[in-house]
Amino acid sequence: MNQIKQLLPKIDPFSLRVRLTLGVAAVSAFGLGSLSIYTSWKMQQLLINSHKNNIRQIATRLPQDIELYNELMPSSNGVQKVIDSLTNENIFLWIKGLDNKIAANSSNLNKLSPTTASELIYSTEMSMKPQVQKVGERYFVLCGGALPLKGKVVGKLFVVQDVTREQTMFLVIVQSLGIGSILTIILISLAIAIYIKRSLQPLRQLSQMTEVISIADLGQAQLYLENAPSEVRELAQTFNMMLSRLSQSWEQERQFVSNVSHELRTPLTIVHGYLQSVLRRQNNLTEIQREALTTAAAEAERTIRLLQDLLDLARADSGYLHFRLEPCVINDLVTEIVAMAKSYSDRSITIDSGSQPIEVKADYNRLKQVLLNLIDNAVKYSEPHTCVTVKLYQQADAAIIQVSDQGYGIPLQHQARIFERFYRVDEARTSSTGGCGLGLSIVKTLVEGMAGNVTVRSRLGEGSTFTITLPALTTTK
Ligand code: ADP
Repeated sequence: MNQIKQLLPKIDPFSLRVRLTLGVAAVSAFGLGSLSIYTSWKMQQLLINSHKNNIRQIATRLPQDIELYNELMPSSNGVQKVIDSLTNENIFLWIKGLDNKIAANSSNLNKLSPTTASELIYSTEMSMKPQVQKVGERYFVLCGGALPLKGKVVGKLFVVQDVTREQTMFLVIVQSLGIGSILTIILISLAIAIYIKRSLQPLRQLSQMTEVISIADLGQAQLYLENAPSEVRELAQTFNMMLSRLSQSWEQERQFVSNVSHELRTPLTIVHGYLQSVLRRQNNLTEIQREALTTAAAEAERTIRLLQDLLDLARADSGYLHFRLEPCVINDLVTEIVAMAKSYSDRSITIDSGSQPIEVKADYNRLKQVLLNLIDNAVKYSEPHTCVTVKLYQQADAAIIQVSDQGYGIPLQHQARIFERFYRVDEARTSSTGGCGLGLSIVKTLVEGMAGNVTVRSRLGEGSTFTITLPALTTTK
C-alpha cells in the first residue's frame, strides 16, 4: 500500500492542475453523457415510430378488409382470413368484443407460450399508447385502439409486433455508446491533465527560479522563460522589475548604513579619546564626575563597536570586506585572546589543546574578533562562578575551535536564528548584557569570509558550544 502511495505522484486537490482537470472532465462527462442519453432516446423513438406506422396501417386496413370480405363472400371465418392475411410471424393481432372477451385472434398468437400470450394481452390492457415491452426474453411493440365497423365501435383491436432483433441491436448500440463515452471521458481527462501540466510548467519554473534568489544575487537575478505563454512571460517581466527595484532599495539601505556608521564612528572615537584622557590625567575630579565620565566613555566605546560591526556587515554585503589571509598558528592566537579576555573579566577561562601546533590560513585580526565575540558571549550568558573553555583540535584537514560555557543555553527553536542580524533570544535577559544582536552575525560573516563555518550546539540550562571549522594547512590522519 505504501509502495503504491510512493509510486503515485502526489496529488494536491487544491492545485490549479487538479481543479482544471476535474472541471474539464466534468464538463466533457456532462456533454458526452447528455449526448449519449439523447441519442439512445432518439433511437428508441425511431424504432417505436417505424413500428407504430406499420401497426397503424394494419389497424386502418382491418375494418375495411373485413367489410370488403363480408360483401364479397359473407362467411363466418371471413374475419379470421382477414386477420391472417394482415399478420405474419412477427405481428400478432386480436380483437376483443364489447364484452371484453377475445372474439378473434391471429393464429400465430396460439403458437406463443400461454404465459407470453397472456402477459401480452394483459400489458395491452394497461396502456393503449404504443410502447416497447419486454415479455419473457422477447421485446414487443404494443398498440391498441377501438375497432370501428360501419361507423360503429364494435370492440377493441390490439396489434403487437415482435421487435426482439431490433431491440437487441439497439441495446448493443446503447451499451457500446456508453462504454465508448466512458473511455472517451477517461482519455480526454488524461490528455487534459497532461496538457494542463505542460501549460503550468512555466509557472513552476518561475517559482523555482524565484525560490533560489538570495539577497546576495538580488542585483544580477533575472527570470527568463523560453516558450512560455505570454501571460507567464509578462509575470516574469513584472518579477524582474520588482527584483531590480528591490535590489536598488537594498543597495540604498546598505549605502545608508555604511555612510551613517562611518560618519558617526570618527567623531565618536574622538569623543571617546578625550573622555579617556580626561579620566587619566585629571586627579581633581569628584567621585560623581569620575563616575559620569566613566559611564560616558563606556557607552561611547559600546556605540563605536556597534558602528564598527554595522560597517563590517555593510562592507561584507557589498563585497568590500577584505581579508588578509596568511598562515597563522591558532594555538598562539587562542592563548593571546584568552589572556586578553581574562584581563577584561575575572572569569576562569581554560584552554584545552594538544601540543601539536595547528596552522590555518586566516586573517589574524578577524579571527581574533571572532573569538573575542564568542568568549564575550560565553561570559555574558553564564553565571560568574562557571567556567568557559576554549578547545582546539584538528580533524583530518579541518582545524576546529570550540568555545563552550555552562550557561543558560539557547532554546532549540532559536538556535537556527541566532546568527541573524539583530536577533536576540530573550530580550528581558539580554537587555542587561548590553549587546544588540549583531555579534554572532559578524562571527558568521567573518568565518565564512575565511572559508570556514560556525555551528552551535546548546541545551537549555546546561550550556552552549560554538564550533568554528577552518581549513587547516597541514593534514593529520
Ligand atoms: P548579543 O549582542 O545580544 O550578544 P549576539 O549576536 O552575540 O548578540 O547573540 C545573539 C543572541 O544569541 C543573544 O542575544 C543571546 O540570546 C544568544 N546567545 C549568544 N551566545 C550565547 C551563549 N553562549 N549562551 C546563551 N545564549 C547565547
